[in-house]
Amino acid sequence: MKGPRGNTRRRSGSSPRGARRPSGARLRVGQGFDAHRLVAGRPLLLGGIEVPHGRGLEGHSDGDCVLHALCDALLGAVGEGDMGRHFPSRDPRWRGVDSRVFVEEVRRLVAAARFRLVNLDVTIIAQEPVLAPQLEPMRAAIATLLDAEAGRVSVKAKSTDHLGALGRGEGIAALATVLVEKEPT
Ligand SMILES: [Zn+2]
Repeated sequence: MKGPRGNTRRRSGSSPRGARRPSGARLRVGQGFDAHRLVAGRPLLLGGIEVPHGRGLEGHSDGDCVLHALCDALLGAVGEGDMGRHFPSRDPRWRGVDSRVFVEEVRRLVAAARFRLVNLDVTIIAQEPVLAPQLEPMRAAIATLLDAEAGRVSVKAKSTDHLGALGRGEGIAALATVLVEKEPT
């Protein structure tokens, strides 16, 4: 126990400037979370595709919680806040908008900050519908939206084993983790 702790101390002590300047880091990580309620009379848009289901996600936009979570993860990684800052729901411009528009905007912000995607990992939390057949199409759609190879994008789905509101099928949530790297200058 003593050894590793001592090493850690020495290592952090040897680069105090790097520790004080996180904005200079070449690799940056970001996380995002979103959840929307499932309601009747709307198409289910998830991960940039339409999923056959009797209900869809309610929201100011099209309710695509997967795209919203990944936008927040990317914005967080490059220090650009969150979706609420860039696309406020009080702004009528974003009412009913296709969430792929948000991803395009965020991709532009990431590129303007001179970062590029290393990889993205998404977990969808949904009791229903069964999403296994939709995961590859979502992965392809997201990769296209981010102008990245499909190998850099991962989309997984989990249920909560009927626990809680998500387990009762009242809504769908998504978590996203992203790693970006600074473009070489
Ligand atoms: Zn959302």
